[in-house]
Amino acid sequence: MRIERIETLVCNARMRNWVFVKVVTDQPGLIGWGEATLEWHTRSVVAAVEDLAELLVGEDPRRVEHLWQMMWRQHFWHGSGITRATAISGIDIALWDILGKELGVPCHRLWGGPVRNRIRLYCHLGGGLMEAFYETPVEQADRFAQLAREAVQQGFSAFKAMAVPPTAPLEGLQPVQAAARCVEAMRDAVGPNVDIMVDCHARPSPAMGMKFARALEPYGLYFLEEPCWPEHVQELARIRQAVATPIATGERITGIHGFRDLFAAGACDVCQLDITHCGGPTAARRIAALADAYGVALAPHNPQGPVSTAATLEFGFSQPGFVICESVHADVPWRNDVVRVAHRIDPTTRTVQPHEQPGLGVEVIESAVKQHPFEQELLQRVFYSDGSVGDW
Ligand SMILES: [Mg+2]
Repeated sequence: MRIERIETLVCNARMRNWVFVKVVTDQPGLIGWGEATLEWHTRSVVAAVEDLAELLVGEDPRRVEHLWQMMWRQHFWHGSGITRATAISGIDIALWDILGKELGVPCHRLWGGPVRNRIRLYCHLGGGLMEAFYETPVEQADRFAQLAREAVQQGFSAFKAMAVPPTAPLEGLQPVQAAARCVEAMRDAVGPNVDIMVDCHARPSPAMGMKFARALEPYGLYFLEEPCWPEHVQELARIRQAVATPIATGERITGIHGFRDLFAAGACDVCQLDITHCGGPTAARRIAALADAYGVALAPHNPQGPVSTAATLEFGFSQPGFVICESVHADVPWRNDVVRVAHRIDPTTRTVQPHEQPGLGVEVIESAVKQHPFEQELLQRVFYSDGSVGDW
């Protein structure tokens, strides 16, 4: 069996262009699907896939690890830059899909699973609709509470909110108290039995991240995400030591070495590797083994398209340390129209059971994708009150 060609299909989903990767083999009808979505970097990822294809065309797609080594290590530059790592991830996901299809088993079986009967999903407030999740001001605590109630009504037992505002490197009480009021309103709205996660989106400096972590401690968060930039590993560790709230991070890290440094510093309780950025399932499985050694749980980052979700779920059905899966369902109304998926979601509990379809259990419907061609992603930019640049 040989790889004939590697294509990308771009599907504009407002804030993101989903980049689907299609690996075509010389076996009639045998193709693999992957996803390499990287918001605001669509054109460069598509080009990176094209560059990598030069290495792979003519190779046996079933030698997944061997091809991963080629993609990561050849052409001199290692694959850890975010654009190349995302392109590698998309191809790697598709190669595992091909292997599963060839052997007639779902990917989680290739990886030794299933290790659990179901996976719990959590949603973004508003189901991932850009205006609801990313653009509701933290000062609108009542709106956060209303969206939280809606998530629970939709069957979710866990949700995530961006309840920490863009914050200058040092500020007084105002943003901290606004965040605390916001989380208090959500907790009052849903009670103690629903899990609430807060994503700081690495907006705060280490000093402000510490203040937010302390202020939100009383509300029993399931985890507090990216309280400061992941590069500040020691500061993350300091925040983690100061609170009982589990600290989550890792969505911007690629390859095993960044995770090694993060875990070794004791900087997080929850690893949010992204299977479409970290180097694909091949890298994710190594990172998961490392996380296991450090007692760090897995809750992968997954706000992208439906192939990313399928791959993340397959990974979750093979990983003992996997605790919950991020999901969005309302970013665009036609989300489910561009794919056929084998995973079935129980709408009353928002849990997913393993499927028995070969490969990832997802097929991209190319004619449907063509109805949503590339468009420039909607910009999301942050400036502080003095006009200086902040983190989104
Ligand atoms: Mg995040």
